[in-house]
Amino acid sequence: MALEITDTVILKSFPFGDTSKIARCYTRDYGKISVIGKGVRKGKTLRSGYLEPLNHLSLAFYQNPRRELQIFSKAEFINIWTAMKQNVKKISYGFAIVELVDKGVTDEEPHEALFELLLETLNAVNDTKGNINVIFWYFEMKFLSLLGFRPNLSTCPNCDETLNGGVFSNEKGELVCTDCLKIGGNTVSSPSHQLLKKLKRGSLKDVLNLQLKGGERSEVGGFLDRYLRYHIDAVQSVRSLKIMGKVLA
Ligand SMILES: [Zn+2]
Repeated sequence: MALEITDTVILKSFPFGDTSKIARCYTRDYGKISVIGKGVRKGKTLRSGYLEPLNHLSLAFYQNPRRELQIFSKAEFINIWTAMKQNVKKISYGFAIVELVDKGVTDEEPHEALFELLLETLNAVNDTKGNINVIFWYFEMKFLSLLGFRPNLSTCPNCDETLNGGVFSNEKGELVCTDCLKIGGNTVSSPSHQLLKKLKRGSLKDVLNLQLKGGERSEVGGFLDRYLRYHIDAVQSVRSLKIMGKVLA
């Protein structure tokens, strides 16, 4: 078995047996992997502390490509993200992001852009003094695009008219114009539509300081939530999103 070292974000972990721990990791070089830390919960060492969700590590592990579970060797912290972990709102968003990656990524192949998006977003959640919603929406939009589900925001899929706002169609899983779908509660007003387009096109820096009105907040968040649930089945079971809804209500 070869010893490999890679940049890693821990997505989730759970105890295993009396003294061990298993962690699911998103890594820069190997995509999603699981490692077992044998004996890490034994004694007074803090080795088990490495294998906690929302840690950014340089992870060393023994790789056996024929096994599903790799063996944890050692780690060093790259980011501790203390501000995120000490703030209930920030940590709720952090958990929702890593759970989306855990549930939404089925492919075991490495995906450098997705790894960079994960780091960029978690760094921003940790550092922000402003709107976390926007950072989370940015993540959702880019995550969808990277997985091949980039929303069409330009023309109505039904009549081909240029969209200026619209309604989310539960049938098509897309934004359609208000002529094609008059009934339905999931409206996206023209300003919210503009905001979605900025999130789709822009960099995180471009959208960080956007000013939001109440209606836009629920419309943009609602659209992305419905869109994700429609296109990525596993998102239905993302617990953190439900918990977040309660914490932030
Ligand atoms: Zn239409």
